[in-house]
Amino acid sequence: MSKVTVINHPLVQHKLALLRDVNTGNKAFRELLNELALLMCYEVTRNFPLTDIEIETPVQRGTFKVLANEKVAFVPVLRAGLGMVDGMMSIIPNAKVGHIGLYRNPDTLMPTSYYAKLPDDIGERETILIDPMLATGNSAAAAAQTVKELGAEKVRFVCLLAAPEGIAVMQELHPDVDIYVAWIDEKLNDHGYIVPGLGDAGDRLFGTK
Ligand code: URA
Repeated sequence: MSKVTVINHPLVQHKLALLRDVNTGNKAFRELLNELALLMCYEVTRNFPLTDIEIETPVQRGTFKVLANEKVAFVPVLRAGLGMVDGMMSIIPNAKVGHIGLYRNPDTLMPTSYYAKLPDDIGERETILIDPMLATGNSAAAAAQTVKELGAEKVRFVCLLAAPEGIAVMQELHPDVDIYVAWIDEKLNDHGYIVPGLGDAGDRLFGTK
């Protein structure tokens, strides 16, 4: 069963509350989401393995720790996942970025895939799949399936808010994918929106409604 980590750091919770506010405009929403992504990335990478390296400081030679695998791929699910990429890239600037395009049918709530492009060496990379809202879990599960089919081996899933229903679907279909979330909300409404949630993340990011 995959592990679910709730990143309940005070700064994360504070910024998440501001993000939820219906009065937070598109610009502030984008800025807050980027800040949250940076803070969350710090926790998502907490268990990355380290290896020893010999380095000469200005004072003396010594053995120090660096990441064993510096190869990271961020894979945002379009559109809303894009809002978390810059924040994460600001602390792992050499990461490569793939993209997964999924459209959620508003009636069936089932995803249709329309785009997938990943780094060629995805199999060697720590893959971090990003979608701010883990709602029904259908899109997240489809995205995880796609990255695995295209060669990703070690996949983590990062979202801002999750519904219990979405976590259950991911854990059933992808027990090997650990989930990192800022908060687990109460439930889904009849339209598949997270309650209390923050509304449509894509619309709030890009001002489309
Ligand atoms: N996608 C969103 O943007 N918001 C939700 O509440 C659920 C899915």
